[in-house]
Amino acid sequence: MILGLLKEHGKETRVALLPETVQTFTDLKVEVLVEQGAGEKAFASDADYEAVGAKTVSRNDVFAKAEVLLQIQPPAEGDTERIKDSQVWISAFNPLWDTALVKTFLNKGITTFSLDLIPRTTRAQAMDILSSMATVSGYMAVLEAAAKLPTFFPMFMTAAGTIRPANVLILGAGVAGLQAIATSRKLGAQVQVFDVRSAVKEEVMSLGGKFVEVEGATEDKAAGGYAVEQTEEYKKKQQDRINEVAAKSNVVICTAQIPGRKAPLLIPKEAVDAMKPGSVIIDLAASTGGNCELTKNDEVVEYKGVSIIGQSNYPAQKPVDASRMFGKNVLNFMKLMIGEEGELNLNFEDDIVKGTCITHAKEIYNERVKSVIE
Ligand code: NAD
Repeated sequence: MILGLLKEHGKETRVALLPETVQTFTDLKVEVLVEQGAGEKAFASDADYEAVGAKTVSRNDVFAKAEVLLQIQPPAEGDTERIKDSQVWISAFNPLWDTALVKTFLNKGITTFSLDLIPRTTRAQAMDILSSMATVSGYMAVLEAAAKLPTFFPMFMTAAGTIRPANVLILGAGVAGLQAIATSRKLGAQVQVFDVRSAVKEEVMSLGGKFVEVEGATEDKAAGGYAVEQTEEYKKKQQDRINEVAAKSNVVICTAQIPGRKAPLLIPKEAVDAMKPGSVIIDLAASTGGNCELTKNDEVVEYKGVSIIGQSNYPAQKPVDASRMFGKNVLNFMKLMIGEEGELNLNFEDDIVKGTCITHAKEIYNERVKSVIE
């Protein structure tokens, strides 16, 4: 197999594979072409890639010669026209949301895999980029909130008096939310947590968070552990409780998402009105509309003294470790498609390969994507 590692575009600083992971690909007899400068922003030089057996080449050469094209972000403008139907495209392109891109891939007959749809099964855990990147986001969200807040996170007992700890409210206790709880607790804050899935209560408590319960949530075992849409009655009860707790919080970290849909609105404008000036809201759901009504994706909104930060790519602020984790996940996934002699071997009998495949031979393979396109 000739694997082409592309340089990311826009504000992305990560790279899909660091040299340490490329080494394992070359050991598996895969020929790796790296676009010149691909690792620069993650502190990996072309010489570092060459040292582990990769060739660094121009972008045109990667597109012309690679059988498999790999990057983190969806294709840059104009790139979909460059990908040939004989090539395989691997990145994280949010196909449940960006259905127009899926249709383009489908019509062109390109084989594509979207790493954000790797099944959430035990066998696939080591390949799960969503979990890896959510870990970075949950951690960074808390660090940014702590830096921005005009008060401390921990309680301080000093000769100048006692400083009360910050109150943090975390909405959603998935991977990012749990990391945000752990990081907030390490910094000494008091943490309250909302989630529609009651199953997370024990995890929240084991990390030192207090679970705020609202009776009557809809849970669906068939949704594979994900949240589902809630009834209007439940939403009203939940809203009242959230408004009440938010008004007493210094920091709100929003992480609530529903795959393939707009993020649930949990902090309406009136909830922000009731918050203390100087409070900080970090909205990790910003790219799918945000949990806060005032969130603007990749912007900081200042409203009546409350800062609302909508950051869609915290992993890009920790490019070395984020790339390291991303690359290990990619390697573990791609091992499923590398034959004994390093050749490309797409085995659609494997549930992880099939489940992560979005388009192949002018058909949509992933069932969830199929249901939103048809
Ligand atoms: P996510 O990013 O899809 O959502 C974040 C959290 O927001 C979830 O906990 C969700 O329940 C919550 N949420 C959604 N709507 C809400 C609302 N209206 N109010 C409050 N909270 C709301 O979640 P994720 O981190 O991707 O995790 C989703 C599931 O996948 C979890 O069950 C997790 O344990 C599971 N998981 C499995 C694996 C694996 O087995 N490989 C790996 C990671 C996560």
